[in-house]
Amino acid sequence: MKVCVIGTGYVGLVTGVCLAHIGHDVICVDNNEEKVKLMKQGQSPIYEPGLSELMHSCMNSGKLNFTTDLGAGVNHGEILFIAVGTPPLPTGESDTRYVEAVARGIGNNLNGGYKVIVNKSTVPIGSGDWVRMIVLDGFKEKQTQVMGEGFTMTEETSPLFDVVSNPEFLREGSAVYDTFNPDRIVLGGSADKAINMMKELYQPLIDRKFSENSSLSPVPVVVTDLSSAEMIKYAANAFLATKISFINEVANICDRVGADVTQVAKGIGLDSRIGSKFLQAGIGWGGSCFPKDVAALIHTASDYGYETELMNAAVKVNERQRVIIIEKLQHELKILKGKVVGLLGLTFKPDTDDMRDAPALNIIQELNRLGAKVKAYDPIVSQTGLSHGLSGVIIESNAEMLADGCDALVLVTDWQEFLKLDLDKMSKLVKNRLMIDGRNFLDRTAIEKSGFRYVGIGR
Ligand code: NAD
Repeated sequence: MKVCVIGTGYVGLVTGVCLAHIGHDVICVDNNEEKVKLMKQGQSPIYEPGLSELMHSCMNSGKLNFTTDLGAGVNHGEILFIAVGTPPLPTGESDTRYVEAVARGIGNNLNGGYKVIVNKSTVPIGSGDWVRMIVLDGFKEKQTQVMGEGFTMTEETSPLFDVVSNPEFLREGSAVYDTFNPDRIVLGGSADKAINMMKELYQPLIDRKFSENSSLSPVPVVVTDLSSAEMIKYAANAFLATKISFINEVANICDRVGADVTQVAKGIGLDSRIGSKFLQAGIGWGGSCFPKDVAALIHTASDYGYETELMNAAVKVNERQRVIIIEKLQHELKILKGKVVGLLGLTFKPDTDDMRDAPALNIIQELNRLGAKVKAYDPIVSQTGLSHGLSGVIIESNAEMLADGCDALVLVTDWQEFLKLDLDKMSKLVKNRLMIDGRNFLDRTAIEKSGFRYVGIGR
């Protein structure tokens, strides 16, 4: 099928590449000229395991193209994905101006032929109908320019399209894997024709033709109305964020009573009603999705006069959890002014270069405020030299250089390579042997064997 994906960030680029890989003819549109130039040269502007290789092979087969020309994309695609960002406003509300610009642009460029317009961006509940309205406004604007003020929209002159909500559940760091191995596909909309086209588009994925385990039963497809599909995305993220806040709260109690939260998580996670995922206590949730999606749902609820007490509490627990590292450092080192703290990892999770709303940023801010010197080593940030929001941090190029002269080391991101640290070497370079494991990720025995004092979260 002919597909246009508008917005080539973590979601749009992965979607475009994966749809091309399963055989569709894809054009990806972005208004960032630099990005498009890079992608046309075969370079991915984001780090996502497996993405570059797949991108190259799809470009070579002619199934994947890039452009800044929205008109060309709209003209090409029978299915048009909107995958632009919806960042949070200071009020917690989603900033939908990029979605609006794209919807208007699609309307400006519609010129015959049925299209399915797909909201893949996470958008506030009710956005499906709103996008429809903006597309029609954009279409009318353009027709009025071309045909004069006398243009009126009738059944004959009206463009043929339907809007579908198709929320995305991929996880940064395993986005390609997740796209080929989805737990479910959600399609919201009322037009059978559009829903059937979406099912046809995803059929190879539904049939698990590209899954790790193709013998599993087909991927469940949840077909529902627009608002429920939009709500599914928010509810999923709010639930997962709440689950993490829950175990973090349990960890804080464990710290006080002398229990080990990793054992507690194992014990409760084996209960099939609870499940073991998202029960890793640590320094809290972050990234570009959980914080903004939970805030947006809280905001929507308040628009409708409802106070989300449970979600408010999940956010509050998370805010406190992010700076728990500071409390632990103060407990161990007492005065932080003049101390050197080395952070292992910066990104909000491993296998991504995304620093949006990463807990590291709060930790750095607090350490700077308290007069500590902050150094950091992150496998991706140190390599790419990206230092967005990292003022006041010395970025080191490996873990040993980081260790040199530190009063404490803090594991912030659970990158696999941190399981292979040369602890004996590092223990000789640090000023003080203190390792705070903000993700309960490291091998405590190995750390202690190298002479470090190990401090975890809730253990
Ligand atoms: P992103 O910020 O990484 O990418 C957005 C892209 O859209 C950028 O490349 C930007 O240049 C482009 N863009 C903005 N305005 C444009 C315009 N008018 N025309 C063309 N391109 C335009 O965003 P993302 O992380 O990929 O997220 C996209 C959406 O998907 C958001 O709503 C997000 O909440 C949702 N989502 C994200 C994830 C994730 O893990 N990142 C997961 C699920 C859902």
